[in-house]
Amino acid sequence: MKARYILPVLGLLLAGSSWAEGAHWGYHGKHGPKHWEGECQTGRAQSPINIRTGAATATELPALVFQYQPAGVQLVNNGHTVQLNIAPGSRIRIGEDVYELLQFHFHTPSEEQINGKPADMVAHLAHKNEQGELAVVAVLFKVGAENAALKSFWKDLPRKEGKLELDQQFNAFDLLPADFGYYAFSGSLTTPPCTEGVRWQVLKEPVTLSRAQLHAFKKIFPMNARPVQPLNEREVKASK
Ligand SMILES: [Zn+2]
Repeated sequence: MKARYILPVLGLLLAGSSWAEGAHWGYHGKHGPKHWEGECQTGRAQSPINIRTGAATATELPALVFQYQPAGVQLVNNGHTVQLNIAPGSRIRIGEDVYELLQFHFHTPSEEQINGKPADMVAHLAHKNEQGELAVVAVLFKVGAENAALKSFWKDLPRKEGKLELDQQFNAFDLLPADFGYYAFSGSLTTPPCTEGVRWQVLKEPVTLSRAQLHAFKKIFPMNARPVQPLNEREVKASK
């Protein structure tokens, strides 16, 4: 998949406050997670978490119904991750609730831990409903066979801050594992401002990517995972 470089770095630096804000936080040192402000410090239902599978409540959770379709994609290096903005039309249905897929992006290692262990990478698929409520689906990646869905755009990962318009459509459904069993809990954005009230679904079944694919991402972002946060009073549910 070829991509066209549409916005130079200088343009982004001048592009406005939302980008400028992003420059003030990171994953290391004095801009690292310990120093993130606001809800990141005061929240009681923060993400990510360590999912202790033995402590999760097995229950009849609503099936995740992915109504994704091929869509135009904009590939963005925002200085914290590589994000793919998805053109409208892909939705997820969770029980009665319908959310539109806005974007997905990656963290390495995975921010979520399962029984104290992160996976090699995670994709966060971020959705929003008509009320403005957010639902994120996390797909865990482990090193193994090459990932064909990633392969279609991985060589175009922007190494510097900027945006690319992919010249062909992408179906986010191709990122998903075969089984949609999941863990569910209430959490937050994992980046500042760490806003809570986010509905989290972490798929149990990981997918694979090759060591070379992982390395290609790590060359741009060697570590972009927030540490796990206290569970506090929250319950983690597991689909049966
Ligand atoms: Zn994320």
